[in-house]
Amino acid sequence: MNQFTLSTSLTAPGLSSVKSQSRPSPHTYLDNRVTKSQIASRRTRSQRARERLETKEHLSRLAVEIRNVELADKIDRCHSRLSVLTCGRHIARVIPNFTCEFRLCPDCGRRRSRKIQNKYLPMMSAFMLHRRVTPVHLVLTQTHRAETRKQSTKRIKDAFTRLQRRVFWNEHFKGGTWSLEFTKDKKGFHHTHLHIIGFRRTFFDIELLRSEWLAVTGDSHVLNLKPILDIATGLREVVKYVSKPLDIRRFGADDLKEFLGLKNMRMFGTFGEFRDFSKDFEPSDNDGAAVSDLESFNRDLVEGCACPQCNQPLFDLRLSKSELPQFYEQIESSPPGKIGTKWN
Ligand SMILES: [Zn+2]
Ligand SMILES: [Zn+2]
Repeated sequence: MNQFTLSTSLTAPGLSSVKSQSRPSPHTYLDNRVTKSQIASRRTRSQRARERLETKEHLSRLAVEIRNVELADKIDRCHSRLSVLTCGRHIARVIPNFTCEFRLCPDCGRRRSRKIQNKYLPMMSAFMLHRRVTPVHLVLTQTHRAETRKQSTKRIKDAFTRLQRRVFWNEHFKGGTWSLEFTKDKKGFHHTHLHIIGFRRTFFDIELLRSEWLAVTGDSHVLNLKPILDIATGLREVVKYVSKPLDIRRFGADDLKEFLGLKNMRMFGTFGEFRDFSKDFEPSDNDGAAVSDLESFNRDLVEGCACPQCNQPLFDLRLSKSELPQFYEQIESSPPGKIGTKWN
């Protein structure tokens, strides 16, 4: 679903959402940091919009600290004024005045991950259909060492390359996609994870996969594997690390400096047979029908068109960046059928 489109079944803010946030997810794995990111995905749109705003303010302050005024200015201008196409209760499109394209910008990251989803989802559906494979979400981790982010990333990517050369891997997987997630603990150790969507041919004992990972890393056997029941949801889950590769709120000026030194580091890629498939992929009518692309549908909407969710006419609302979370809040708190007056 288009992230700018407000669902009618929004979680009401207040007691119920507070209660659900404290309950651990049934898929809790690895450590509570992963659980935290899953909780983040249950936040309301206004909360998430406010978080993005705070993240950008923090990044801009750090950029000033390291005297990169140009970057600070770009982040400040990014999404600072918005043209919002809305019926008053749903948001069909948000058009920003400017996009900074900085890799850590949460607004630009969201757009990048949507692009990836729109590009790869039809390919994945077609691949699964033609190759009779089932998708799994595999998280590979490594032991912590005193090393730079760059060294940590190279270490896990090299180990994954070695894993792909193993007979076991090729017997059970037909390629997939990978994305990187970075964290840093309180002692300053980098934790780098690889989130993989693997297309599995056959079932296998997870302990065998663990011992294979140990064989290629030398000291790491911690991994998690879970089946992906719905490929759209599975892809969304892994590409969220493209928009949010690390927890920026824990990020200091030195981290920003280090990150800026990592030019052109890839955060997402394909591998194996799926990579070859995706290069040659031309969607047929059948493959295209498997995916409903609301984003490109909404792209054609203009003022006066009917809202795709309620058929009311859409109008163009001009908001500043700080007004967007307030607008989401207003929508979330208005009862169905009632539209707030402030924005009309
Ligand atoms: Zn941006
Ligand atoms: Zn509507």
